[in-house]
Amino acid sequence: MKDLIIIGGGPGAWSCAMTAINRGLTCAVVTTGKQFSGLTKAHLVTNYPGLPNISGEDLLDKMEQQARDMGCEVISGNARQIMPNGKNYMTLVGNDILDSQAICLALGASRPKLLPGEDTLLGHGVSWCGTCDGMFYRKKPVAVLSAWSGGVEDAEFLAGVCSSVDYYVLSKHDLPQDERIVMRPERPLSLEPSENGVRVNFDQGSAEYSGVFVFRPAVAPSTLLPGLAIDGNVIAVDRRMATNLPHVYACGDCTGQPLQIAKAVGEGNIAAISCAQDLAEARKGEKM
Ligand SMILES: Cc1cc2nc3c(=O)[nH]c(=O)nc-3n(C[C@H](O)[C@H](O)[C@H](O)COP(=O)(O)OP(=O)(O)OC[C@H]3O[C@@H](n4cnc5c(N)ncnc54)[C@H](O)[C@@H]3O)c2cc1C
Repeated sequence: MKDLIIIGGGPGAWSCAMTAINRGLTCAVVTTGKQFSGLTKAHLVTNYPGLPNISGEDLLDKMEQQARDMGCEVISGNARQIMPNGKNYMTLVGNDILDSQAICLALGASRPKLLPGEDTLLGHGVSWCGTCDGMFYRKKPVAVLSAWSGGVEDAEFLAGVCSSVDYYVLSKHDLPQDERIVMRPERPLSLEPSENGVRVNFDQGSAEYSGVFVFRPAVAPSTLLPGLAIDGNVIAVDRRMATNLPHVYACGDCTGQPLQIAKAVGEGNIAAISCAQDLAEARKGEKM
């Protein structure tokens, strides 16, 4: 059980981790990887104090290394779902569940763009989690639509459960090397219900499956943590970076403008301090 699980991997997350550790909290950062932070695309960063003329990628590497050196655990993977568990939280990462007393969301600004039809079919033939839902499609044909290498592990799991697995690439990534998985060249454009499950539509033609699994390196905040208050399309926070849910904080681009490194770092720092204060208060209350 960690005090704090931070979901991210950009400046907000690393800053939050460093201050949390300084404040005596145990913490882990769950991240899909630096390649999904917009900052890796910044050729040159000129407005981050103390580090003039550094590339975005180098800056991220330095931040991550600093957090690791301070004792931060780093867990690679996509946090798919966070569930309350009494006063604590359970975070589903790949096939593992991580327990923590508090959560900080440092998800960045990018929101997954869903395929037309995906939203309405979610839970009705479409799933975002092979491990959670694979057994519903035992000995049945399924499709995997993946935008990142994280989908490969799920496809391999499904290949052991389902009668067939067709794999479609939504964005370029390292592909499965498993003869049970059939690579399909078509580009899925939309999903719709069909007599036996779900129809995947292409530019020309379509294919039908009992189930369709879609994997991306990000999840919309309200899907990740049901009940989380959203303001427009950003996570609603107060000045302490606290959300509407107990011991859940957010920082960085996912809380809104300005989308800047210094703002993400500052908010990560505030979120960690608020978290340390709130957990100390809660523990005092438990002792009384
Ligand atoms: C091309 C470009 C140039 C820029 N140049 C500058 C600049 O010069 N100066 C400046 O101040 N700002 C600049 N920015 C903005 C800056 O990059 C962002 O403000 C900053 O990176 C925000 O940090 P963050 O921690 O909020 O999110 P991000 O850096 O976006 O990191 C979020 C991370 O969380 C991960 N993640 C999301 N969901 C999950 C999940 N469910 N499970 C696990 N991991 C997850 C993402 O994959 C990503 O790695 C630039 C941005 C771009 C795109």
